Amino acid sequence: MKDDCIFCKIAAGKIPSATIYEDSHFRVFLDINPATKGHCLIVPKEHFENIYELDADTAGKAFVLATLISRALKNVLGCDGLNVVQNNGPIAGQSVFHFHMHLIPRYRDDGLSLLVEQEPGDMEEIQRIRQLLKDELQ
Ligand code: AMP
Ligand code: ZN
Repeated sequence: MKDDCIFCKIAAGKIPSATIYEDSHFRVFLDINPATKGHCLIVPKEHFENIYELDADTAGKAFVLATLISRALKNVLGCDGLNVVQNNGPIAGQSVFHFHMHLIPRYRDDGLSLLVEQEPGDMEEIQRIRQLLKDELQ
């Protein structure tokens, strides 16, 4: 537990939250600034700052849990779709530096846009990056 981390405190139950699920590894609670109705956060109890620090076991468990919570959101709220969002670093929109996944139920006409404008890429650059990453991952 990191003393100055709000999600460590929420996960440990030291700060109240609108919890919908808890087990020995995770707490899931409703976001206080919901992007849509039912927006919730999956938060591991152990402190990892971001995806780079997250261990494989917790990563696997987090996604399994995401499937369970997503089905509950669909069954209870009748959402028409759902975004899984996970931000790393301020430039990517991370504001709480304790790893978490957003589950954002989507509704027809909810007016929310998470999609960025995309344009066809430079194929030479795509191939160059492909090679760099393949080498890194070997
Ligand atoms: P991110 O910007 O990806 O780091 O997401 C942090 C999220 O945590 C934001 O959507 C905040 O609204 C949410 N948040 C911050 N403090 C609390 C809190 N005390 N209870 C519930 N959600 C929170
Ligand atoms: Zn923490």
